[in-house]
Amino acid sequence: MENTIFGYHGTLLRIDLTEQICRTEKIDPNEFRLYMGGRGLGASMLLRELPAGIDPLSSENILIFSTGPLVGTPVPGSDRYSLHTKSPQTGLYSFSISGGRFGSIMKKTGFDVIVITGKSSVPTYLLINDEGSVEFRNADHLWGKNTESTQETIQADISPNVGITCIGPAGENMVPYACLLNERRALGRGGAGAVMGSKNLKAVVVQGNKKAPLADSKALKSAIRSGMAELRENPMTSKVLKMYGSASTLRKLKDNGVLPDKNWSDVALDEAESITAERMREHFLVEDIACSSGCPVKCSKMFGVKDGDWEGSLSEGPDYETVYSFGSCCGVYDLAPIIHADSICDMLGLDTISTGVSIAFAMECLEKGIIDAEAYSTGELAFGNPKTMIQLIEDIAFKRNFGAVVGLGTKRMAEKFGQGSEKFAMHAKGMELGGYDARGLKGMSLVYGCGPRGGCHHAGGYTVIPEIMNPKVDRFAESGKAPIVAASRNRRASLCDSSLMCAFVAIGLSDETVVGILNGASGLDYKSEDLITIGNRISQLERAFNFREGLTREDDALPQRLLDEVIPRGPSKGYKVDDFELMKDEFYQICGWDLKTGAPLAESLEALDIAWVKEYIAL
Ligand code: SF4
Repeated sequence: MENTIFGYHGTLLRIDLTEQICRTEKIDPNEFRLYMGGRGLGASMLLRELPAGIDPLSSENILIFSTGPLVGTPVPGSDRYSLHTKSPQTGLYSFSISGGRFGSIMKKTGFDVIVITGKSSVPTYLLINDEGSVEFRNADHLWGKNTESTQETIQADISPNVGITCIGPAGENMVPYACLLNERRALGRGGAGAVMGSKNLKAVVVQGNKKAPLADSKALKSAIRSGMAELRENPMTSKVLKMYGSASTLRKLKDNGVLPDKNWSDVALDEAESITAERMREHFLVEDIACSSGCPVKCSKMFGVKDGDWEGSLSEGPDYETVYSFGSCCGVYDLAPIIHADSICDMLGLDTISTGVSIAFAMECLEKGIIDAEAYSTGELAFGNPKTMIQLIEDIAFKRNFGAVVGLGTKRMAEKFGQGSEKFAMHAKGMELGGYDARGLKGMSLVYGCGPRGGCHHAGGYTVIPEIMNPKVDRFAESGKAPIVAASRNRRASLCDSSLMCAFVAIGLSDETVVGILNGASGLDYKSEDLITIGNRISQLERAFNFREGLTREDDALPQRLLDEVIPRGPSKGYKVDDFELMKDEFYQICGWDLKTGAPLAESLEALDIAWVKEYIAL
């Protein structure tokens, strides 16, 4: 058993859609030691395997589905997988993580990683089983179906026990912010759904029963028991998230004056009382759900609308980001249409943050007279009008009418509209921002501006908890935020996104327990400081990928609105981001990036045992 890799199968499956062939390969065990799994493995493979400069929607782009050492184990929150590709929205590195059954069933096929290349000539779905067989099945009957109907049809054809991840009409139509759905869980910010669509790939279906060997089942069980006790004791995991899900954050953000309102032209204060998580639970809760078997937190919520214009709408969510994007950001302070918007985005396969923020940008362009309502046939689209917002979502997915324009996203819309609209296009590197006003939470400006996948609120770190909850951290200070951002980024990149443990579960676990869990599964003898080192290594790979694609220091940028306009009212009134370049200097120094070019420094790569990366970025 000397060469056994614990927690993994050690095998990778390659599928070529063009030639309709597949083959398996062994994965070098050192890859697991260096990158752990999930986000780390995907980042390493994408950098090595994807040629620089390719069109993300061409057959040359690749899709990498990856699992990690905890997937398929009884660790709470470990039914997960990651997906990596080059983003059609940003032209840069893209990864996403999702809960749900797909990840654990994928691991049971006996493959840790599935790499899909090429392009099918006709609509296709893949059926992968644990015998190593891959069927290229015709998907003509699925093309055009929404994600729910696609999954129901496949389950009826094969078995209810398969794992399915699929695209909806938005992916088929290659909307740059189309995503994938498995059950009712979405992944693919940055347009992974459009990449699937460009390959004529409607769905990936997995079935299997293989279990990866574990290093020490007894030690793993004992660490899980400790973890469950910690989750019960931690107020976030045992009360706040359990009762209200991620939307519980909304009240804190409102109270601190950092909940963006009307495309970030203002912040939401008392008006946001109508869209709080407490109100959502009281009026719309159908049931609490665990997206991962055995997760005691059950932060997912099924919400339903019982009456009024949106009667019958049912959605798993909306999470905080969706309440922000379709709610306060569009000036809609009514939960029923927000739940409906969430539900139809899931059906159509659209990313809710980019969809809502793109609509809000269009609303402000109309309000300011930058675009003409008649010329663009926008109807009554305006802040606070949910009916036109909902209509637009469907048009975005089908690239119809004004939806074809809004589907471009804020960056490309601003390029099209001009007239100064780029100053309030709320994106970073082409990806729309998550819902935390960085003018009152300065650490988040580095998260958005320097994160690996654009305006994402977590891939480049997450400072909301320390900035709001820790009295020793001044949320308005700019200098000194870099270490907080880098530490949160690195911890999440390894512990959550590469082992594939849910980030909400990880909130409630001590480092000691986490390390016990990882070591029980993998036998790799991790120490807690290794988590930061591995996360840092992954961040360097992601940075190298983007640098090779042409990213410069100037691309680490924020929307001009955050630099020029102060928050107009509330507890953060009068603040803006004053010296983002200084913040970047501090951040680059901590990350080991060149102050002028933004590239990872050779010595940073060597110190992290990834000197091979130098060759890929010509250092
Ligand atoms: S905490 Fe929430 S998101 Fe995480 S595994 Fe549990 S139910 Fe899923």
